[in-house]
Amino acid sequence: MENCELEYGAAARLKEGVLDPGLCSGCGACVGFCPYIKSYNERVAIIHNCQICEGICYRICPRGFTQYMSLRREVFGAADFDPVLGAHKEIYFARAAEEKIRSCGQYGGVVSALSVFALKEGFIESILMTGGNVKGTKPVLVSSASGVTECAGSKYTAAPTLRLFQDAVRKGYQKIGVVGRPCQVTASRKMQQASEINGQCISLVIGLFCMGSFSPEFYTFINMKDLGSYDRMDIPKDVHFRGSGQEIIIPFEEMRQFIRNACLSCYDPLSELADISVGSTEYDPDWNALILRTTKGSELVEQACASGYIEIKPYPPELLPILRKAVFRRKKRVLERPDFTYLNLSAQEREYFLSTGDDD
Ligand SMILES: Cc1cc2nc3c(=O)[nH]c(=O)nc-3n(C[C@H](O)[C@H](O)[C@H](O)COP(=O)(O)OP(=O)(O)OC[C@H]3O[C@@H](n4cnc5c(N)ncnc54)[C@H](O)[C@@H]3O)c2cc1C
Ligand code: SF4
Ligand code: SF4
Repeated sequence: MENCELEYGAAARLKEGVLDPGLCSGCGACVGFCPYIKSYNERVAIIHNCQICEGICYRICPRGFTQYMSLRREVFGAADFDPVLGAHKEIYFARAAEEKIRSCGQYGGVVSALSVFALKEGFIESILMTGGNVKGTKPVLVSSASGVTECAGSKYTAAPTLRLFQDAVRKGYQKIGVVGRPCQVTASRKMQQASEINGQCISLVIGLFCMGSFSPEFYTFINMKDLGSYDRMDIPKDVHFRGSGQEIIIPFEEMRQFIRNACLSCYDPLSELADISVGSTEYDPDWNALILRTTKGSELVEQACASGYIEIKPYPPELLPILRKAVFRRKKRVLERPDFTYLNLSAQEREYFLSTGDDD
């Protein structure tokens, strides 16, 4: 086949380059359209030695070799590029206007409010989300406001949400949204380039901030410590489990062992390739940090504000250096790792992080 760089099947490359070395982020992109790749309990495995060279599983994997600079160009054109925060137009504090959504959201409920608005106004016809609870995640294809709020709240494990993309296509949806971790955002952009799987149907990508997710061993810990009855989790610093008016706090150091191996070499804590990125403010749990990146993302937010779905206010200028420093340090640390080989970055970008002490 023309342009085929592989001497052997794409699945073999996925196995040897991503799955065997423990670099799979559990995004779910390779699962769902291929009968030979399965996910079980947030672990992904190839169950048959597929020889197809043109198979796209490796191509759409965020941990497969990724032409990051051309992906950025594809999404942002020639927009100004900030090596720390990624391409962006504006950055705000934001929250859902409706108390009902705020109360079920992780912080300000911005992801839920924007998703409800995007469905209602026809930006999208359905959206891939993550339901479930601390005992287990559940990828869900959502097409209603009630479906969105049922998925509200962060589950800090690697739900393979993208495995439902083919279901959405089979159901005839042509404008499909994605809410995902940064690795899932990268996978979504790679999928958009794959017409064989109708990737062009992905039409809105809402990315979360993410510094790491827990491996399946986390669930053993939950059972052992009898934490399954808590329905909410948060990690402001240590790990908080909340439910029925009660809260238990586990020191983060006790949980560090469960950080997924793939997360240690993750270069993108802010979902740089998303239309909009949403995270905590690290300052006020009733609000979100909101980064507008693409024109589509800006239009969605502008219309959602005008229609009373979300409220925004300026990102406090004194907090911006704190965010930048955290991201700078993360990227620098990752660039220094020998297993960081899956993204092609420019020499200038590497130099920016490796030659300076901080984000000066
Ligand atoms: C594994 C993980 C790690 C995170 N780490 C950070 C961090 O270090 N710093 C930070 O500022 N923010 C982090 N976040 C993001 C933060 O927890 C909130 O998701 C974000 O601020 C949106 O808040 P909200 O109130 O708008 O969410 P909501 O309105 O409650 O919406 C949350 C959305 O997240 C989706 N979701 C839930 N769990 C997952 C999952 N495991 N994978 C994919 N999607 C999921 C749901 O579909 C839901 O739509 C993390 C999120 C996850 C899932
Ligand atoms: S990172 Fe995603 S695409 Fe890659 S192997 Fe894991 S689940 Fe599949
Ligand atoms: S740290 Fe990176 S690899 Fe890990 S879940 Fe978050 S985005 Fe995915």
